[in-house]
Amino acid sequence: MKYQVLIFYKYITIENPLELQKKYLELCTRFKLKGRTIIAQEGINSTLEGTVEDTENFLKEFLQDSRFSDIFVKRSEGTGNSFPKLSVKVRPEIVATRFPPEIDPRIQTAPYLSPEELHTWYEKNENFVVVDMRNSYEFSSGHFKNSLDTKMDASRELPEKIDTIKDKTQGKKILTVCTAGVRCEKMSAYLLHAGFKDVYQLDGGMHSYIEKYPDGHFEGTLFTFDNRLVMDFGGNRKIIGRCKRCDDKTEQYQNCANAECNMLFLICNDCMSSEGPGFCSEKCEKSPARVVQRVRG
Ligand SMILES: [Zn+2]
Ligand SMILES: [Zn+2]
Repeated sequence: MKYQVLIFYKYITIENPLELQKKYLELCTRFKLKGRTIIAQEGINSTLEGTVEDTENFLKEFLQDSRFSDIFVKRSEGTGNSFPKLSVKVRPEIVATRFPPEIDPRIQTAPYLSPEELHTWYEKNENFVVVDMRNSYEFSSGHFKNSLDTKMDASRELPEKIDTIKDKTQGKKILTVCTAGVRCEKMSAYLLHAGFKDVYQLDGGMHSYIEKYPDGHFEGTLFTFDNRLVMDFGGNRKIIGRCKRCDDKTEQYQNCANAECNMLFLICNDCMSSEGPGFCSEKCEKSPARVVQRVRG
């Protein structure tokens, strides 16, 4: 059996999120799909897995809804086990930022740069900085060459990082990037709002770039929020992730043993088996809450 993961989002006004939630749950259940979906008044953000046949049949029906018919769907190979269950939730935002309401991609967001254009920027040594809008633990296992780690633990921290971004991008074009594009819609809008000029966002995110250029300017692996951990697009991937304890190469993630933190960090097999439950920082080690451990990768 061949499985496939679908990723898509759209910022569009949904008059009645609860009604869409009900319809969406019914549709996903009928095609035996699992995954995570958030619906809000500002749009939809969805990742689903099922057999290739079921996911394609789901799309045929879902895309008949004129609100979503032009949605850009990214497909990647699944395992059949990428998600434990189906979850469809209604939330205030499709990406949790808690930004002021005037940051609204339906009204204003940065222009899109295609993967091909980004590739040309690299080849021609254009004067630009890639600003990575993902969380720092996602950055650590893979990222674009010469990109800026904004060192966030969550998207809502962007306002605190503005000064650093300003410092590192003086006089240069800015390209915001994230996994599949949904975060950049808001993050780039925030940069424009904060007075940045010459801001672009990568169309379709890293996902679209790596799909086109598996041996291009993205190094390491693309972190995913599902059980696959790594999206494999073929190509000669080099391991750039480093163990938090011994600095050896690794792409294995572990959750911080402090249950209140639960932050993901990279750890190698040796350190994992020799040192037992691990903490992401000294602070977490000194005040361990209930110790739980999950291993990914
Ligand atoms: Zn190690
Ligand atoms: Zn921690």
